[in-house]
Amino acid sequence: MYDLIVTGGSLVDGTGAPALLADIAITGNKIAEIGDLKSASAARRVDATGKIVCPGFIDTHTHSEISVLANPDAPAKIRQGVTTEVVGNCGFSAFPLSDETRKMARDFSHPVFGHPEVEWDWLDLGGYFERLERQGCAVNVATLVGQGTLRNAVLGFDKRAPDPEELARMQSLLERGMEQGAFGLSTGLSYAPGMFADTEEIIALCRVVSRKSGLYATHLRNQSDRLEEAVEEALEIGTRADVPVLISHHKAAGERNWGKVKRTLAMLDRAQAAGQRTWSDVYPYLSGMSTMLPVLPPWVLEGGVDEMLERLRDGEARKQIRLDFDTGLPGWENKATVLGWDNVVISSVVTEKNKDLAGLSVRAAAQRRGKDALELLFDLLIEEGGVVGRRSIQCCEEDVLAMLTHARTMIGSDGLDVENPHPRQYGCFARVLGEYVREKHALALETAIHKMTGLSADAFGLSNLGLLKPGKRADVVVFDAAAIRDEGTYADPSRHPKGIDWVFVGGKAAVAEGKSTGVRNGEILRHR
Ligand SMILES: [Zn+2]
Repeated sequence: MYDLIVTGGSLVDGTGAPALLADIAITGNKIAEIGDLKSASAARRVDATGKIVCPGFIDTHTHSEISVLANPDAPAKIRQGVTTEVVGNCGFSAFPLSDETRKMARDFSHPVFGHPEVEWDWLDLGGYFERLERQGCAVNVATLVGQGTLRNAVLGFDKRAPDPEELARMQSLLERGMEQGAFGLSTGLSYAPGMFADTEEIIALCRVVSRKSGLYATHLRNQSDRLEEAVEEALEIGTRADVPVLISHHKAAGERNWGKVKRTLAMLDRAQAAGQRTWSDVYPYLSGMSTMLPVLPPWVLEGGVDEMLERLRDGEARKQIRLDFDTGLPGWENKATVLGWDNVVISSVVTEKNKDLAGLSVRAAAQRRGKDALELLFDLLIEEGGVVGRRSIQCCEEDVLAMLTHARTMIGSDGLDVENPHPRQYGCFARVLGEYVREKHALALETAIHKMTGLSADAFGLSNLGLLKPGKRADVVVFDAAAIRDEGTYADPSRHPKGIDWVFVGGKAAVAEGKSTGVRNGEILRHR
């Protein structure tokens, strides 16, 4: 007698193997049996005839750590079949904190995490997980340690190298995070304060990750004109610290760089052939979304958001920033040049008075206010306290296809749960299956599902997840391959996809017949 049997579906098991018709039985939170179970008895049966039955999707790249506290039902993710979120990406994590650095950490991650109403009543990962456990959550949560937050806890926003004692403190905080269950370290090397670290500092941290058998996930130092050098740096860190490397939202940003991903994917393949473990994650959209802060030269961000705002108010500093935008700075990825002001779009603001600018490019907003682009940018950042969202077209379709079809690319939404989010927050996984599998025939259904399940579980060492096999955790999605599609647009992003009928998390239905149930059966996943 099983708790549940899902009958009659086409099983895609997450390994990439071809679909086969079979029933799947669940007892408790585990898959109990797979096969012809017509005569077996169960407390409940779900008919999946004509549908695909596959493992719950693992969103390998998210910024949902505060979102899952604000919205424990995680509707944006659960409704697209995501049953596991990997948080702590791009150098941003909700820990480690100290009483002195908590405010700075909150300030710089506010545009990425959203939800300023959530109180941060923890200092370390253990405390964060306790809070999450108390509240419950619809999805499983795994985390990385964000190197930006880690550095902030020891050095604040200082633009300098750590002394040996400070480096040792960072290493010990990282080690503690790994012991409390983090799966590795992430960097966001185009964000302050993470960008103030040089290669050697990151290698020293990754040696700790290596001892704990974790991985290194990196938002590269440069994703545009110096993309290849940035991938080189990531691979050097991987080799010298002996850690697997995951390139986050792997892309070549800016029209003049389109096509470069073929070369950087080949670099990963050469490293892999030489014995290094390498992956990428990708989201299936041409536009990206982030905060407006990295548009500024790095020195402006030194000292944190409050000091940045002071500089933006200062006439002399403004002059210097203008000069830097004109002439560039060594090592600075000047996004205004790479993308163009017409393509740097204000995606969200926090004040009422600037709401009319949301959705406009910096150039268009400047025209509306009768200013030039930089004056608009400086004033807007001051008025919004530094909390301004940014969206830009970054990639071309050919590069997205090259990324999606590469053997070791996983799907990661990079979604932000902010006001006026990127449509990927709601539709990333459905878009791969509807647009790229069914409409464009870019990859086989089984391959796409592997990139959302088995491959991701293998990369992170989530040994209980990602496959339909007896004994594995019963995270299961039932969807209609002919109907699945993403519905969100840039103008109206917060729309749930169509075609996803059932989502089981640990054997319990979080989505039933296309509707959220409010069941919070997600588990905290700790690295061992
Ligand atoms: Zn990132």
